[in-house]
Amino acid sequence: MTSDRRPAIGITCSTVQSESSGAPLRHCQNLSYIRAVASAGGVPLLIPDLRDKAALSSLYDLCDGLLLPGGGDIDPARFGEPRHERCGQPSPLRDEVELTLTRWTVRDRKPVLAICRGIQVLNVALGGSLYQDIAAQLCGAEKHDWYPDYPRDRLSHVVEIGRGTILSEVLDGRSLPVNSLHHQALKDIGPQASIAARAADGVIEALEVKDHPFALGVQWHPEELAPSNQQAQRLFDALVRACRR
Ligand code: MN
Repeated sequence: MTSDRRPAIGITCSTVQSESSGAPLRHCQNLSYIRAVASAGGVPLLIPDLRDKAALSSLYDLCDGLLLPGGGDIDPARFGEPRHERCGQPSPLRDEVELTLTRWTVRDRKPVLAICRGIQVLNVALGGSLYQDIAAQLCGAEKHDWYPDYPRDRLSHVVEIGRGTILSEVLDGRSLPVNSLHHQALKDIGPQASIAARAADGVIEALEVKDHPFALGVQWHPEELAPSNQQAQRLFDALVRACRR
């Protein structure tokens, strides 16, 4: 990468379906991710759900790093489980695109920041599994699904960050109030991964890939906090900084 070019950060998309037919109609992504990456000095590069692996690979090659954003639930078949009734409808192509990009990113040691659905994609790509619904499957857990009737930047619980983690280095702290807009959570952790933070009820809130320069997943939504919270913006700054190395 030449020194004057800004790092390109690939961001995958959500798909809006036609109200009449249910067919996939258009891609979209929240501006909060795009603004947070741009504020960090990166160039947001939206990645469509390309079926053609050679085309996806060419687009991936243009990315210096990757941001895996929030979204719907992963097909539980991806971690070998039948679908629970409270698991959302799957998006097979999005699952395939994101799991493929994540495996390439881990293989190539390319920086990746994975948010909400993203941390779940990261864990499943590494061979881990998920609770398909916290309220139904994780006895004693507190409420983590503070959506859709709450502000997206509502600070709903605290996370305790592990000593010696990349996350503690980036945030320069061990405890952090976060927003919480998820109904699923990480269950078994892939062998290449390590837990970087938990909520007080034990729910895994951050994950890192071992022996990787910057592969970090968070279960909360720092992009919603970043405009008014410098500590949240630091995660995006760290992603872009890692791409410059
Ligand atoms: Mn949470």
